[in-house]
Amino acid sequence: MNKEEKFDFVIVGGGPNGVTLAAYLSKCGASVCVLEERPEAGGGCENTEPIAGVRINPHAMFLYGGAAPGFDQLELWRYGFRGQPNRLGDLTEDVGRGCPTTSGNYPISDIDQMGYAKVSGLLGQPPFIRELLRATFWCPPHPPEVEVTAHNIPYMQVYKKHQPDVWSEELLEMDMFDLMDEYLDTEPFKVQQAVISWYSGAAGHWKGVAIPAWMCNVALVIYSRMTVPRGGMHDYFHAVMRCAVAHGTVVRTCCKVEEIMINDGVAVGVRMADTATCGEKKIWAKKAVISGVDVRQTFNKLVGPQHVDRGLLQKVNDISLKGGSIYVSHILSREPLKVKDKFPGMVGGCYPMDHRDIYYDHVADVDGRKGNPSIPPERAMWLSTPYERFDWSDPQVSRPEGHIMSPIYHLVPPPEYHVDGPDAMNKWKDGMWDYVVKSMSEVYTNLNSDNVIAHWANSPYDSTFRNTGLIGGTWCGTRHCDDQWGERRPIPELARYRTPIDGLYLCNQTACHPGGLFLMAIPYNLMHIMIEDGLVEPGEWWYPSPWYIPEQGKNPAKRQ
Ligand SMILES: Cc1cc2nc3c(=O)[nH]c(=O)nc-3n(C[C@H](O)[C@H](O)[C@H](O)COP(=O)(O)OP(=O)(O)OC[C@H]3O[C@@H](n4cnc5c(N)ncnc54)[C@H](O)[C@@H]3O)c2cc1C
Repeated sequence: MNKEEKFDFVIVGGGPNGVTLAAYLSKCGASVCVLEERPEAGGGCENTEPIAGVRINPHAMFLYGGAAPGFDQLELWRYGFRGQPNRLGDLTEDVGRGCPTTSGNYPISDIDQMGYAKVSGLLGQPPFIRELLRATFWCPPHPPEVEVTAHNIPYMQVYKKHQPDVWSEELLEMDMFDLMDEYLDTEPFKVQQAVISWYSGAAGHWKGVAIPAWMCNVALVIYSRMTVPRGGMHDYFHAVMRCAVAHGTVVRTCCKVEEIMINDGVAVGVRMADTATCGEKKIWAKKAVISGVDVRQTFNKLVGPQHVDRGLLQKVNDISLKGGSIYVSHILSREPLKVKDKFPGMVGGCYPMDHRDIYYDHVADVDGRKGNPSIPPERAMWLSTPYERFDWSDPQVSRPEGHIMSPIYHLVPPPEYHVDGPDAMNKWKDGMWDYVVKSMSEVYTNLNSDNVIAHWANSPYDSTFRNTGLIGGTWCGTRHCDDQWGERRPIPELARYRTPIDGLYLCNQTACHPGGLFLMAIPYNLMHIMIEDGLVEPGEWWYPSPWYIPEQGKNPAKRQ
């Protein structure tokens, strides 16, 4: 093996963000090396087999990223990506079922449907839903010299153009409940949308992010059902990986990076652990090192505090994980779980959606009390994923007697914030299992020991051990609240993917706009910055975000 290995770019971490960026950079003709500490790349887009013949997704499950320009820019179909619609029926069937409340399914009104469609960009001629999603997530934050206003925020520009009656200065003051009170009708439908948003990044009760919260919801409710990756999210990741490798990226697994080497304030390469499965332990970067792992680990462990301004390090360590995290359960049963008669047609989803009081009780529990759940299980809110994923070509269970309900999510505090210590939920897993069973038995009739063959759970603490690239055990990395959104996400100095260290960029969900879930957004947005910095020149396949504003004095990231 070459003693002095050099690549244009060295990427630490083979999660979806790191590998997607590798695909972009190598498609530009650059030499790229990705180093992943685990035996398999994929980070949060993994699936696992806790017992033979049963596959579960401890992390990514839904394709929130369906509107990404990366699908065509990277031509993922050439590398095996296949999407198909959700087999569990179209949106009209969902609407017909209504919203599950403690008294049964509650009808969704015409006003609900038309209001939801209008704000989501479905009533435009033509519909502008994809534009709205791209404007919200697939555009780098504006440069620091640009004052952000109601006129230049990308999603505001889209409303102004396509649906001007939705645009108003006040929109930027609202939370999603304010917006829903204006456009929607029935309380259970509103609560359902707010809960879905909370699970998906921007909570329904956060002031100033009504539209980002709404679009988090749209990405799941509408977009993720239009494009279900055949083989699940891990298979989607495989397509990205094949694309990167086809363009020349070198991916090394079992290669833990211990240090990002800094020379005179410039990132020059990485040093791997002695256990790394390659001969030479140092790899040099001719142009840049990119960290695809969480921002705390990047600065505290990989770069080291001696190279980071103490004020910045303090901000990194103080990143707020408000909004909480998720406890993920998986149930293998002999018979499929059967719903009570009052929930006809229910195949998964959120429960109970009676009133926003229940929602706010959960806010108080997760963000206020920060302990194990104190809400009675009959009132506990949960979200479950319908049987057998969404894909009939890829059953999750090959055991003849098995049916899987997985994943099921309950909102809990992040381990770092738990009043009884980070491992408190782990110590209480049996109690949590009882809680999960009781809360779900409000809807299902046969969630009992005769029917359940096995069950598993990843607490947020488990998630951070399984996936060392994330903080807080949440799928959002950090949250999309107003003080962590866009230009501020979550630390202004880092929000545009650059760091104070020359030649070191960030490409991970914890520090970069728009955070987790919206896969391919961070690499696409970061590409604008790398082009601005003169590091790469993409071919004609590249197109920048139409709402992108170049930084003064830099190379604008235009189409060549
Ligand atoms: C419970 C949960 C549910 C989720 N559900 C969804 C979903 O339904 N849909 C969706 O789109 N997204 C979902 N996500 C979010 C999605 O998984 C993340 O947004 C995505 O994985 C972030 O990608 P990343 O590349 O930034 O980081 P990661 O996926 O965390 O990847 C980082 C990689 O770096 C590696 N690494 C860490 N340290 C080192 C080191 N020192 N040296 C070398 N390698 C290192 C890690 O092993 C990992 O492979 C979920 C996440 C969680 C936690």
